[in-house]
Amino acid sequence: MLNHIRIVLVDTSHPGNIGAAARAMKNMCLQQLHLVTPHHYPSEEATSRASGADDLLARAVVHSSLDEALEGCRLVVGTSARPRTVSWPVLSPREAAAKLVEEAAMGEVALVFGREKSGLSNSELDRCNFLVHIPTNEAYSSLNLGAAVQVLGYEVYLASKQGDKAPGEAPRNLATAEMLQGFHEHLAQALDDVGFTDPRQSEKLLRRLRSLFQRARPDKDEINILRGILSAMQGGKSMRR
Ligand code: SAH
Repeated sequence: MLNHIRIVLVDTSHPGNIGAAARAMKNMCLQQLHLVTPHHYPSEEATSRASGADDLLARAVVHSSLDEALEGCRLVVGTSARPRTVSWPVLSPREAAAKLVEEAAMGEVALVFGREKSGLSNSELDRCNFLVHIPTNEAYSSLNLGAAVQVLGYEVYLASKQGDKAPGEAPRNLATAEMLQGFHEHLAQALDDVGFTDPRQSEKLLRRLRSLFQRARPDKDEINILRGILSAMQGGKSMRR
């Protein structure tokens, strides 16, 4: 199950943090490290901070975009060092870990970490179904990146040891991250085509709609139905990917 959990580090500036993340992951039996546009990688500093977890570094996959790193994922959980103004559902580390482990039994899932200086951007958070925040001193809430991977990795490891107690929901064939992204692009285009969006409001409106669908966790058939409706609204113009 833990093999299906991707740890995604976005735009990391310090290679030492990549090494620290790899070490924390190996301690917690996590295997899949995905790096989106790391500033310095590969790097000796990363290898030395990984101290023995360099096998994990050697297998790390480097991507040119977050969308690429999330390909095929049915669940995406983003991390946030501070409360956000936009209304993404925020989970505790324990809740997030339980969800990741439960859904990893059915497919690929991702836990996404942001930049050392600025975290994840709003458009990166748009790709997430949920956010997770590690509770801290409110006046000093930002953990070192490697430490954040350690805390969440520990919760995921504990959740994986819980075994299968209560039966969860029946497995659903959820839409993947790229299907959701394709749908959101189609939705924006269709609303524009039918003259629904007011350019002054559209960014806010689209973000509200995005948050609605990310929360609803549509399955593949539902996304196909919604895209069929959008194409019909557009007068049969098809925008299938
Ligand atoms: N100044 C940035 C902090 C980035 S810390 C900001 O305000 O967003 C670097 C990364 O470590 C974050 O993007 C997140 O992935 C993780 N992180 C740090 N502290 C965290 C916390 N309290 N809860 C969850 N993730 C945290």
